[in-house]
Amino acid sequence: MAMMKKGRRLAAPLLLALTLAGCAAPPPQGVRPVSLRFSLDAACGQDITGLAPVPVRLRDARLFVSEVALIDRAGQLVPVTLDQNLWQYQGTALLDFEDATGGCTGTPERNDQITGHAVAGDYRGVRFTIGVPSALNHGPYEKAPAPLDLAAMGWSWQAGRKFIKIELLPQGGVQRPNGTPTSAWNLHLGSSGCAGDPVKGEAVTCAAANRIPVRLDRFNPARDRIHIDLKALFSGTDLTRDGGGAVGCMSGPADPDCPAIFKAMGLRLLPSATGVADAGQPLPQGQRFLTVVRP
Ligand code: CA
Repeated sequence: MAMMKKGRRLAAPLLLALTLAGCAAPPPQGVRPVSLRFSLDAACGQDITGLAPVPVRLRDARLFVSEVALIDRAGQLVPVTLDQNLWQYQGTALLDFEDATGGCTGTPERNDQITGHAVAGDYRGVRFTIGVPSALNHGPYEKAPAPLDLAAMGWSWQAGRKFIKIELLPQGGVQRPNGTPTSAWNLHLGSSGCAGDPVKGEAVTCAAANRIPVRLDRFNPARDRIHIDLKALFSGTDLTRDGGGAVGCMSGPADPDCPAIFKAMGLRLLPSATGVADAGQPLPQGQRFLTVVRP
């Protein structure tokens, strides 16, 4: 319900879009509304088949997206200036595929699109980041503007936010190494290895950023949608079992359930070599769970 408590809408996207478009030689051809539509192959209260040996239900499915740009015919990135509303603040948007029914525990509202403006053009692709930029990531959620004010997306132990929160309920539960079954397999992605207390005014730095760069070619923003493919994301994972550590994968470098998930997300879980500080950076092959769907 936190999404409903504030009702402001700021109206500066047009000017910002023109500013971001820069001072290139051709005059701006004007800006156009942009709407990016997303979908997920799951809904609250419905059995998901093909994810695990047993039917699986959703408990939560939310993620933050930022640094949105369209890719024009020449391959150039053109920034999208996001509208500012309850789902979007300073270029960061929350996507929400749960509605607090049928075993889901979040908010009744859902959001499956990102809206904004960009200079008119012939666009062939889209580029964005899954994650909250560092400047907005750290700091208490209680006083943050929506959508950064959600306690459920806060990640207090790392002084930041969960970039992805997907929680799944396999029928029969999740077996743990200690023999005590539990209900949900949790994927929580966020920056990890963080130090510094933002409440004391300290800068927060994190060893592993864990932000996912996404580039999708052959994408027409006027027609296509971006699909979040849970089967691809969990293809290397048995959701009926937890290997240890947090139940599921909460971005822990030593969690035996994280390597498969991080590979699907296109992120390095561990440094490539001793002394190399590249944990949490993108893998060359990229992510494999977001795809373009054409009508
Ligand atoms: Ca685990």
